Amino acid sequence: MSTYYQPPKYPASTFESMTPSDDTLPVVVVGAGPVGMATALGLAQRGVPVTIIEAADQVSFGSRAICISRHSLEAAGRLGFGAELEKIVLPWVGGRSFYRDRQVLHFRMPQRDFDVRPPMINVSQSEFEQIMVDTIEQNPLITLHWQASIAGILRGDDEVTLEIDTADGKRHLRARYVVAADGGRSRMRELAGL
Ligand SMILES: Cc1cc2nc3c(=O)[nH]c(=O)nc-3n(C[C@H](O)[C@H](O)[C@H](O)COP(=O)(O)OP(=O)(O)OC[C@H]3O[C@@H](n4cnc5c(N)ncnc54)[C@H](O)[C@@H]3O)c2cc1C
Repeated sequence: MSTYYQPPKYPASTFESMTPSDDTLPVVVVGAGPVGMATALGLAQRGVPVTIIEAADQVSFGSRAICISRHSLEAAGRLGFGAELEKIVLPWVGGRSFYRDRQVLHFRMPQRDFDVRPPMINVSQSEFEQIMVDTIEQNPLITLHWQASIAGILRGDDEVTLEIDTADGKRHLRARYVVAADGGRSRMRELAGL
């Protein structure tokens, strides 16, 4: 039996090119990592429709975040998935490092009487992101397209047209704003010449 959390896989989204009327143009978020999903949840909370384009077929998997700070927990609470997250996390306030049998470091993080949340928790980034995806799936203002990756952007004065590679071929989406949340090797920044 695997000790790792195995995230579910999602089928490739099939959708037609979308050219909604100007007053319903969504914000398109490129990348369903923690930053893209948090942005989408925050916009939807303010009544803004969001479409997320994600190249992968599942949440991130492998060696990524394991320590999440209090501030991220506060953001999770505000964005509506904090309670679900707190069911599976391991809170901690300090740590010890040993060299062989000698303790070389002992630290405690600030934890005051009025702090509601611990300074740090352990949870895998995969599980953190999965809770975000589950929250997004229940939000009628957010559409998340899996296995859809950004191929091109055409910037107009008031809107952007995105070219998207999908399993069915190229699709186009018009957007009022586009959020580049496609991580460290961002194709969006490359396309924007940044
Ligand atoms: C080994 C390691 C350990 C870490 N440990 C910690 C930790 O303990 N605590 C902590 O807070 N942080 C940690 N981090 C940092 C954390 O993983 C990142 O800060 C976080 O993932 C950044 O989120 P993001 O949404 O900006 O980008 P990402 O998580 O990289 O998400 C980008 C998303 O965009 C998608 N994408 C990429 N290209 C395209 C495209 N062309 N079209 C559509 N979608 C696309 C990707 O598939 C991905 O889902 C660690 C990172 C690493 C590598």
